[in-house]
Amino acid sequence: MKTLTVTEVSPRQVRLFIGGQWMDASDRKTFQQVSPATGDVMGFVADASREDARAAIAAAGRARRSMARLTVFERSGLCQRIADAIVARQALLAPELSLEQGKPLHEARDEINFAARLFHDAAEYISKLETSLLPAADSSKRIFTLRQPHGVVGVLTPWNYPLGIPSEYLSASLAAGNVVVWKPAPTTSMIAARLVECLLEAGMPEGAVNLVHGGADPGEEIVANPGTQAVGFTGSTTTGSLIAKHAGAKPLLLELGGNGPTIILDDANLKAAISGTAIGCFTNAGQICQSSERILVMERVHDQVLDGLVSSASRVKLGHPLHDGTTMGPLNNQGVASKMESHIRDAVDRGADVIFGGSRAEGQPTNLYYQPTVVDHVSRDSLANREETFGPIAPVIIVRDVEDAIAVANSCALGLCASVYTSDMNTAFRCAERLECGVVNVNESAAYWDGRTPFGGWSGKGSGVGRLGGMESIRFMTQIKSVVLDVGDPDGD
Ligand code: NAD
Repeated sequence: MKTLTVTEVSPRQVRLFIGGQWMDASDRKTFQQVSPATGDVMGFVADASREDARAAIAAAGRARRSMARLTVFERSGLCQRIADAIVARQALLAPELSLEQGKPLHEARDEINFAARLFHDAAEYISKLETSLLPAADSSKRIFTLRQPHGVVGVLTPWNYPLGIPSEYLSASLAAGNVVVWKPAPTTSMIAARLVECLLEAGMPEGAVNLVHGGADPGEEIVANPGTQAVGFTGSTTTGSLIAKHAGAKPLLLELGGNGPTIILDDANLKAAISGTAIGCFTNAGQICQSSERILVMERVHDQVLDGLVSSASRVKLGHPLHDGTTMGPLNNQGVASKMESHIRDAVDRGADVIFGGSRAEGQPTNLYYQPTVVDHVSRDSLANREETFGPIAPVIIVRDVEDAIAVANSCALGLCASVYTSDMNTAFRCAERLECGVVNVNESAAYWDGRTPFGGWSGKGSGVGRLGGMESIRFMTQIKSVVLDVGDPDGD
């Protein structure tokens, strides 16, 4: 496969896509897209206003009926063709994804395959969706349920998996017969436009997906406007709370931040635990909602785990995401890099020791390259234990026993994912039951998710509401209607 070099990717104009047409923002404003990997300007992106968002919502509204009229097998076929179009364009998509987001090329390829698989799965799930004939209290009645699309779904997505996460929403929306107004994160606008090109190549009906670039203004309009009937949002807990306010009574799926504990008990297979933890800490430079955000280790195995994590960090090859051998690229933006800095400073102020890394790397094309970092003796009141860091950090916290580990894990205000390493399946099962989060991986990295199983935050914590994944995504993108049919009196009156 040919890999593009940086210089071959010339700056391009990225426009809004509304009602089947590429167009500039109504006030012609643009923002610059700069690669975190090189510092080069990659393109100029149309910066949508609220008015542009309203135009996109209106265009989606016009497409709504024709989309809902497609048969389930036509929508399934569309999703399958989109999956094929994504795979066919992998050689174009992968280097652009790497340069715009910052992840190494092999991770970009994995993400592209994951996105394609989500469309493939949605094609399968929708064609197997069953509804029911319900028992009726009255012998003259027949009651059955329909699952119907919401109509116009607003979708807002982050920059860490800029193809994978939008595909979770777009695949299920289209499969279920909805139309979409999608606003991706500004720092990954260009790859978003590439995904729309795949949808077009697959024969998406006009107006079925509308793409609006920009920040909070068009985002708020999409969420609050009465022309959107449901909202899917993946992003930070802070923005998610605002979204919940603006969405009012609309069906809302919120996939928010995590601060996932990885618990390593003293009977664990340490080789597997260390390797899974390193994957959880350093994949995508730690910018994963389900990262190993804090490592809760029992005293007896602490030194071995720490040595193992340092050795894993030292093997990370930080560098240009398109270069051979790179295993970790730059962070996506200055906000994440500053948060890394503040969490490390806070941990050290509270008595922790930086054992490896701990600062931005020197001699790189931009200052977004952050060293893989291992911090030991992190105190429980530190930011790294209480909040999401979202960077390449392994903060090690010592715990006394399994009860203490569960208490520390559950003390956090977030509850998305956790992982537990132990060789005792009874302990594993008890941990899985008691950890307050939506996903628990046992003897597997916190970062593992196959895309088909329910995924989301624990009720009452700040990691979100609802579940994505496989049939759960299809369920969210549909609403149930009960239909009561009077078939008359069987004795013929
Ligand atoms: P963010 O909340 O800053 O932005 C997410 C999206 O919301 C972007 O498109 C952004 O432009 C838009 N937005 C920002 N302010 C808005 C507003 N006031 N109204 C409407 N839209 C607005 O998040 P981010 O920095 O892009 O992403 C990182 C966060 O996403 C992390 O906290 C991470 O844990 C979380 N995340 C969660 C999951 C999950 O499945 N739970 C997956 C990936 C990322």
